[in-house]
Amino acid sequence: MEVRDFPFQLRSAVWEITLACCFRCAYCGSRGGQARENELTTVECLDVARQLADIGCRRVSVIGGEAFMRPDWAEIVGSLTKRGVKVCIITNGFRMTPHIISELKRVKIESVAVSVDGVREIHDAYRQKGSYERALDTLKTLAEAKIPVSVITSLRADNAPLLEQLYRELEKLPLFAWQIQACSPMGNAGDNGVSVRFDAREVLRFVDRVAPTAPFMVGVADNIGYYTPEEGRVRGVQGACFEGCAAGLTTIGIDSIGNVRGCESMYDERFIEGNLRGRTLWDIWTAPDAFAYNRRFTSEMLTGACRTCPHGEICAGGCRSYNHFTTGRLYENCLCAR
Ligand code: SF4
Ligand code: SF4
Repeated sequence: MEVRDFPFQLRSAVWEITLACCFRCAYCGSRGGQARENELTTVECLDVARQLADIGCRRVSVIGGEAFMRPDWAEIVGSLTKRGVKVCIITNGFRMTPHIISELKRVKIESVAVSVDGVREIHDAYRQKGSYERALDTLKTLAEAKIPVSVITSLRADNAPLLEQLYRELEKLPLFAWQIQACSPMGNAGDNGVSVRFDAREVLRFVDRVAPTAPFMVGVADNIGYYTPEEGRVRGVQGACFEGCAAGLTTIGIDSIGNVRGCESMYDERFIEGNLRGRTLWDIWTAPDAFAYNRRFTSEMLTGACRTCPHGEICAGGCRSYNHFTTGRLYENCLCAR
């Protein structure tokens, strides 16, 4: 079968190229720190890059761990960009060097996103003293090098009420976007009992208030919502609404040993559809039962409040990953602001 004839078209991927990281954050969903044993080799990664491009994937977010800790990161990214795939790298911004910046330009990176958890005290408490300053320096240095930069903030109980303060700091920086997402109780966050609950309605109202005049795009990610009066104004692009979880429909996640899931946030063995060491990406993507939790979704599968929600058909119960790690019920969202 031709790629274009398959009913599900892969458009984007999140690719964890290593689990190695200079931090070991208490809430890290993927338990970053040590590289996994037996991570994909350079040759294997280059082949994965080719397969992603061949299957039609247009956009890849490269993550870690800390992606720059892999010595061959630029070779891997370059093999995607030379095939026309747009690549964004997500980093903790702690070790930005002139060499990394020149490599980012050489491989024609589309953008870099830096994780900033909150104002200095919050950010440094979870990472290490001085890491907030280093992250902000990285943002400025990248912008000076004409590399588009954005910030990603993961909300928990402790930092959500301080969004306004963080915004006052970020608005001084040359960003093009600020993405606000919910920290899910997965990985270290689950192990350490990090309190992740916050008032999603407050966050949506905050975004709705600041977005029109912010010097950069402000939006919430897939795991905050849904269909409150602010929907259509809070997802970064005017008019954009959450149209259901895209895992396995148009997007996938790949981990550093080649496991493929519908989304890299669905960090649980049960969601592994196959491994790229044993099968091709095309084989995994087109398998008859692949990604059945979404490819066979019908609104009858919704539970709880989602079951009777007038938006259930389109919203499909919010973020599958968040649902799985909070309640274990895939088709019902406990953070929904409706
Ligand atoms: S109640 Fe459920 S289906 Fe309705 S908007 Fe919220 S998450 Fe979506
Ligand atoms: S699991 Fe959540 S983050 Fe992943 S694609 Fe679905 S809605 Fe988006």
